[in-house]
Amino acid sequence: MDFEHSSRTEEFLARLRAFQGCEIEPCEEGYHRELLACADPWVVLPVIEELKEKAKREGLWNLFLAPGAELAGEPVGAGLSNVEYAPLAERMGRSLITAEVCNCNAPDSGNMEVLLHFGSPEQRERWLAPLLQGTVRSAFCMTEPDVASSDATNMQATATLDGEEVVLNGRKWWSTGVGHPNCEVIIFMGLTDPDADRYHQHSMVLVPLKTPGVKVERMLQAMGFLDAPGGHGEVSFSDVRLPSSAIIGGPGQAFAIAQARLGPGRVHHCMRLIGLAELALELACRRASERVAFGKPLANLGGNRERIADARIAIDQARLHVLHTAWLIDKQSPDAIGAAAQIKVAVPNMAQAVLDMSMQLHGGAGLSNDLPLAGAWTAARALRLADGPDEVHRGVIARLELARHGHGKWST
Ligand SMILES: Cc1cc2nc3c(=O)[nH]c(=O)nc-3n(C[C@H](O)[C@H](O)[C@H](O)COP(=O)(O)OP(=O)(O)OC[C@H]3O[C@@H](n4cnc5c(N)ncnc54)[C@H](O)[C@@H]3O)c2cc1C
Repeated sequence: MDFEHSSRTEEFLARLRAFQGCEIEPCEEGYHRELLACADPWVVLPVIEELKEKAKREGLWNLFLAPGAELAGEPVGAGLSNVEYAPLAERMGRSLITAEVCNCNAPDSGNMEVLLHFGSPEQRERWLAPLLQGTVRSAFCMTEPDVASSDATNMQATATLDGEEVVLNGRKWWSTGVGHPNCEVIIFMGLTDPDADRYHQHSMVLVPLKTPGVKVERMLQAMGFLDAPGGHGEVSFSDVRLPSSAIIGGPGQAFAIAQARLGPGRVHHCMRLIGLAELALELACRRASERVAFGKPLANLGGNRERIADARIAIDQARLHVLHTAWLIDKQSPDAIGAAAQIKVAVPNMAQAVLDMSMQLHGGAGLSNDLPLAGAWTAARALRLADGPDEVHRGVIARLELARHGHGKWST
């Protein structure tokens, strides 16, 4: 087993570190402060577009795309495997803006993967090309307020075929990114054929945000955070008519596509959370060494050393778990499904615990907006739901484990 990074990862990592140090870190704090002070937070501050141009020039762009990704016969992305990309995503995760600056942010990265693998040439030209350029943004609308959406077969919003058209009706919420001023397209998941088998009833449809009948009803707060400028919206669809060529991969293909979309896309979330946890531990160590109470640095009080040690153990375990999952995905191993479900549970819980420890060591400052910890904790907490609740992933893990031991009859 070789634990070294590939030479390409090392090379990209060195460039990414330098870019973060010289270009992002000097302006990130000011960026967040300026955005918080905006009366209208649904704006792209000029610094983001400037940084995106610099990242593009540096070749630190679309790093998440797998080898072989191409558009109109031209290769796109850095051609890194998931194992090679994982340390870069981790590095991006230390900052709340680097992923966007490098065009590697959710939900656009997952949506781009969908279009790369399942989009028609026309869909790829219209939407994938500008997404790859970072000139437009996108959202993914699956979850509905009125049904338990952790079971995606519950979805009631409809995508009904009518001659050469598809007609959308229903209400979605928690649509991340829909508030972004550059958000121009939604991937909508809706019920097309209730008589088909459970996993072939739904379709994914590309919906330009400005289509008549699409309305962003409100922007939600996740535990008090708007997460502007992308945010999370509630969106209604009333008799939205589109040509049936807007359906991705054909009617009834939504589940097959969603399976593929949540694989690599979720490795990215997990790796970024490891970067956040590393940052939280680094800040905790600094605080514990520099701040004195009861005549001693905080590090020498109570169980703080043990907490720091436990955080190191937890982060390193989670990183290896994610890298192993990335390796299984790269090999297209059937074991990747269970491994991905495992990290979906393990990593957000680990990050939440490490961030919580760091917040506690920072005292009141840990809960303030002066430090990134409270926002990061909320992000980790949200990720225990955003790609499906922990319980659903545990259900997958248990089903596979029971089947492995010959108890397949308990698999549902
Ligand atoms: C910040 C954030 C961003 C999000 N972004 C998006 C997005 O961009 N697009 C999108 O479509 N959705 C998004 N979501 C929505 C998210 O995917 C759903 O909230 C999630 O799938 C759960 O669906 P639900 O809210 O309907 O909960 P429900 O399905 O009602 O489930 C509620 C609870 O029931 C329990 N439960 C459910 N199933 C089981 C089970 N099998 N075993 C045991 N207990 C179970 C769990 O405790 C679960 O949390 C986002 C959510 C958040 C918080």
